[in-house]
Amino acid sequence: MTGLDDSLGPRLVHLDARHLRRSLKTISSGPGPRVRINGREVLQFSSNDYLGLATDDRLKRATADAVSHFGCGAGSSRLVGGTTELHATLEAALAELKATEACLVFASGYHANIGVVSALSGAGDIIFSDERNHASLVDGCRLSRASVEVYRHRDVEHLGELLSSASGNGQRLIVTETVFSMEGDVAPLQELVKLAQRWDAWLVVDEAHATGVFGEHGGGLVEELGLAQDIDVQIGTLGKALGSMGAFVAGSRLLVDWLTNTARSFIYTTALSPPAVAAALAAVKVVRSDPARRQRLWTNVERMRLGLVDHGFSLGNSRSPILPLLVGDDERALNFSAELLKQGIFVPAIRPPTVPVGMSRLRIVPTASHSRADVDMALHAFVAAGRISRVIE
Ligand SMILES: *Cc1c(COP(=O)(O)O)cnc(C)c1O
Repeated sequence: MTGLDDSLGPRLVHLDARHLRRSLKTISSGPGPRVRINGREVLQFSSNDYLGLATDDRLKRATADAVSHFGCGAGSSRLVGGTTELHATLEAALAELKATEACLVFASGYHANIGVVSALSGAGDIIFSDERNHASLVDGCRLSRASVEVYRHRDVEHLGELLSSASGNGQRLIVTETVFSMEGDVAPLQELVKLAQRWDAWLVVDEAHATGVFGEHGGGLVEELGLAQDIDVQIGTLGKALGSMGAFVAGSRLLVDWLTNTARSFIYTTALSPPAVAAALAAVKVVRSDPARRQRLWTNVERMRLGLVDHGFSLGNSRSPILPLLVGDDERALNFSAELLKQGIFVPAIRPPTVPVGMSRLRIVPTASHSRADVDMALHAFVAAGRISRVIE
């Protein structure tokens, strides 16, 4: 018999030797352009708080009001008394933002994804999944017991081949992110809609990184492309651009009814807390009514993107605020990140299994709350650190 620690210790050492061990960095401030790490203020370029709403005064006030009215926790699951008026109001506001009949709030995007995929497919069904889909979608596929066909990243030709050669009368489900979390590129949604119609498949899209960022009202890439009526299921998180936590699934009333009855990660978990719901509700209002904030985000993103490309960095096919600075080697990515931190810029290295082996990177995210000077200071540091860690010449 080996004791737990005797077994885990060497395994962690092995991870460490391969530069794959992860650890938590404790931050002693709220998220924002400037954070305190180890007592030192640094510029952060890695948060998903795209619009800077996590520390917005309107959200803070809404949260404080909700606490005084409803308390801190929901007290039970959604079906057993955890659904407050706030939850219902947020669901109506999100359905409006998404231009769908109905919407259902979940405790997190992870809960939403595993719940939706496993509630809509089972043994005998086939899920077609983009190879770069988020771990929560992958886990949903596993939980569903459906068979899974993984298509090459954003490759509609490959997906078409897999759809045409699939057999059986099971339900077909196509599952994709709209903006990919580690690549910053976007799914070919129009083509996916056509394939779904042609092959009688249901289309499930995860707008985690598009909600609040794309679309005239911040409804996401689906809004921007005018596809709300053509996509069966839209998932979004409240924890990124919406500055709070939790998630939602938008679609038909019957879809929401079905999920309410069968999505296990909806049924068997405590409802999202009233303050989190109130913050998200305030965020939806800001997102709809304040396009200037989105504009500031995109201005910063373009400045950063052009600066990085000018200096010879490779950013893949990014079309979003997610700028993946590809490094490749795990150790080099770690060194790059450490060098940046020395220079006052916080961007952690992203390594396998979050990204494929040999594709480690720095995932750079400018936000609406960075200033132009912040972006320029970061660019300067990226060039200096990039040279020291030999990512660029
Ligand atoms: C972050 C993320 C999720 C999970 O959302 P949480 O609300 O953080 O649990 C799901 N899908 C994608 C693509 C994500 O990036």
